[in-house]
Amino acid sequence: MNKNIFVTSPLLPPLEEFTPYLEKIWENRYLTNGGTFHQQLESALAEYLGVSHLCLFSNGTLALLTALQALRISGEVITTPYSFVATSHTLLWNGLTPVFADIDPITCNIDPAKIEALITPQTTAILPVHCYGIPCNVDKIQSIADAWGLKVIYDAAHAFGVKKDGESILRCGDLSILSFHATKVFNTFEGGAIICPDARMKARIDYLKNFGFADETTVVAPGINAKMNEVQAAFGLVQLNHIDAALAQRAAIHQRYCDALETIPGLSVFNAPANVEWNHAYFPVLVAPDFPVSRDALYDALKAENIYSRRYFYPLISSFSMYRHLPSAQPGRMPVAEDIAARILCLPIYPDLTHEDQYRVVAVLRQAAHISCASDPAVHSTGHTL
Ligand SMILES: *Cc1c(COP(=O)(O)O)cnc(C)c1O
Repeated sequence: MNKNIFVTSPLLPPLEEFTPYLEKIWENRYLTNGGTFHQQLESALAEYLGVSHLCLFSNGTLALLTALQALRISGEVITTPYSFVATSHTLLWNGLTPVFADIDPITCNIDPAKIEALITPQTTAILPVHCYGIPCNVDKIQSIADAWGLKVIYDAAHAFGVKKDGESILRCGDLSILSFHATKVFNTFEGGAIICPDARMKARIDYLKNFGFADETTVVAPGINAKMNEVQAAFGLVQLNHIDAALAQRAAIHQRYCDALETIPGLSVFNAPANVEWNHAYFPVLVAPDFPVSRDALYDALKAENIYSRRYFYPLISSFSMYRHLPSAQPGRMPVAEDIAARILCLPIYPDLTHEDQYRVVAVLRQAAHISCASDPAVHSTGHTL
């Protein structure tokens, strides 16, 4: 029986690098509420990511929930149906109405050309997602927001470390949020952050994530408890020492897939533009309508070999029961998103995915495409597995 290959596997540094931090926590008996490791991780991450201010959170969903509160967003928010459900759920939790816009077929991100027609007097913000870590068309989105007086909050859960023209993509819009969930490029088991442009906004967000406490006896806002604890923050500090190596491994795996898939007609890959330093957070492939088998049959064929790909993002958020009554969620309103959701498949990618395991994935794809491995020129010319 072949061992399981999952779509992702968490980045875990050697345990012995983490133990001294735990000993320190036991020694200090300081477990949460903005301890030393929390402060250290905030500055280390701000420096690593190239952003001015960053607020740590216990997870990405609470970061997004709080970002919407911090900017006092109300009414309707234009967003993408092609994302993880948390993107829209945080709107409902804030009593806001999601308005779904179709996506761009090249980036899978919200299509700026579809935004303006959805603006109403109730619209106050745009909530785009840098899907798979590939940047949105941030310039077009910002010019629409400026013209109509809207805020922009980026769900950048996939975009850790992504840069465009040498600058962090996380500096775009009014606020951006990150997720440090176990499945993400950089993890703190669970965790997240809001990236914000100035110290005043950081202070407001820091109140909001700690019940609204400004000091021992003053509560300035109806805040929530969304603080990152010291164990999570310490783990983040250890993890940060390994992130560059992990990103390089992801890039190498991405390239090996691209080389292998070049010889498989009907499976197209995604790439970031040349001015983008991408993080290769996912490896999505689009199954062409004339590929010998359907996306779901390919998913099943992989599963039969204990390879667990994921259909990110299917079903569309707009099709779930709490959204499908919305006018913007009606089938046919988002033809591009509907088409891509039906044909997308994310293949396993994580830093320590071995060549052998990657070859197992590619072998299933080749078989589905009716290409025999023996006739694969890539295998013979390079002498190794892909
Ligand atoms: C992972 C993810 C989230 C949620 O982050 P958590 O840290 O799991 O709460 C939000 N949006 C997107 C696009 C995600 O992929």
